[in-house]
Amino acid sequence: MRNLSIVASVVLGTSSVLATAVVADESKHRVVDKPLTLNVHLHDKKFTYDNNWPVELEAARLTGISLNNVTIGNTPDSQEAFNLMLASGELPDIVGGKFIKPNANRYGPEGAFIPLQDLIAEHAPNISALMKEKPEVFNSILAGDGNMYFVPYLTDGKYGRAYFIRTDWLDKLGLEAPNDVEELHKVLTAFRNNDPNGNGKKDEVPAFFRNWEEVLRLVTLWDGRSSGSDTYHDFHVVDGEIRHGYAGEGYKVGLTNVAQWYKEGLIDPEVFTRGSRAREYLLSNDLGGFTHDWFASTASYNDSLKDKVDGFKLEAFIPPASISGVRMEEHRRIPVKPEGWAISATNKYPVETIKYMDFWFSEQGRRLANFGVEGVHYDMIDGKAIFKPEILNSDRPVNSQLTDIGAQVRRGFYQDYGYEIQWTNKYALAGIDLYDQGDYLIDQFLGVSFNVEEQAVYDKHWNNIKTYMLEKQQAWVLGSEDIQSDWDNYMNELDKLGLNKVIKAMQSAYDRQYKS
Ligand code: CA
Repeated sequence: MRNLSIVASVVLGTSSVLATAVVADESKHRVVDKPLTLNVHLHDKKFTYDNNWPVELEAARLTGISLNNVTIGNTPDSQEAFNLMLASGELPDIVGGKFIKPNANRYGPEGAFIPLQDLIAEHAPNISALMKEKPEVFNSILAGDGNMYFVPYLTDGKYGRAYFIRTDWLDKLGLEAPNDVEELHKVLTAFRNNDPNGNGKKDEVPAFFRNWEEVLRLVTLWDGRSSGSDTYHDFHVVDGEIRHGYAGEGYKVGLTNVAQWYKEGLIDPEVFTRGSRAREYLLSNDLGGFTHDWFASTASYNDSLKDKVDGFKLEAFIPPASISGVRMEEHRRIPVKPEGWAISATNKYPVETIKYMDFWFSEQGRRLANFGVEGVHYDMIDGKAIFKPEILNSDRPVNSQLTDIGAQVRRGFYQDYGYEIQWTNKYALAGIDLYDQGDYLIDQFLGVSFNVEEQAVYDKHWNNIKTYMLEKQQAWVLGSEDIQSDWDNYMNELDKLGLNKVIKAMQSAYDRQYKS
């Protein structure tokens, strides 16, 4: 390719020198001389792979490899789609999407997928470099047999959720942003009683949550834990020991208080049932006062409601100090998702495939995966990829527009936070700046990979345990049962259901993976 273009420039004369440079640069991504098509299963609840995504077509132009979607079924459930594919008896060349980690790490050691370390070391310089840069991240995705069976999707950016409060309501009532859990209680009580929306009715919903699980997050204000990762109800690690928040003392104290706040009318009475439109509804009707939710999307209501709700101001404030004085933001972006893609054992082109996967980690491939096609969806301005105005100013959210073209989809790639900062408004940026001045984030539990025995223990017990935990916590918050009198029975029941066995299995997997 390079030789051909040099010949062309000689024939055409000096005016084509620039074009030659571009062609030579782009030809470095070419994996195959003759176009090659590989079958792919790539599933997420929002999409399956589309052969005509502009991002896919551009990758095919640059690498010579096209992917052909063979994802089976029409289900929104990625695990179900994976099971359907397995049941068909045929594995496509590449298998990816949501929840690839548990599946690749279960079926890889059984021979369905190929171990990637050697292929990567030999043929994937970009992935290799990232593995050297982030050893702990790549270590966390290894299977129980120590092999790496998929190329992951790595996220970028630190912050996820933050505490938000109606600062115009605070001003109206002559209050300050709450500094600790006691002040938060006072502020929410004032929101409840003193009519900050000024309509003469006691209709305010002081604390509300778009995801009901966020009500559990409040236990951190009493030194409890609700999760160790960006997945709700997850385990966490304390000094190398695996624990579960819902079996901890801080959780007992915290949930006792959350139940009390609920009884006092400080928490949305419909917190478990209102659903994902809670934030939209309660903010646009000038009813909600305090929440814990994503920086960018929550701050965006300052723009969208500016003409609808008089004086509306919803701002992030630093995590209130707990009863022991700890300010903790329990949620953050996890550095690596259980998503990405794997190479099937039946794939006849493993070398070409890993080179293709490596393309997405090159500078140009990473931009393509994050921003779309240069000149179509973004332009390079001062060395930065900047979205076209029609994308930034569209009525459709930027992230939905990107999924439509095949960018920011769950192939193995490395996200670039630059894609998001461009549509993060000044209120969110001010909040991020505020959180950056403190040290509120905590280490995340990146998960473990089980061996066969550990997996069997987990599969046998965990679902029942979790179901029981969630039933009890809801009954306690709603006040239909009493946590104080229930607690000892609850802990006994968790033991009977096998929680200690599950923790032991996780601990042995954790020790093997992180302590060796
Ligand atoms: Ca009112």
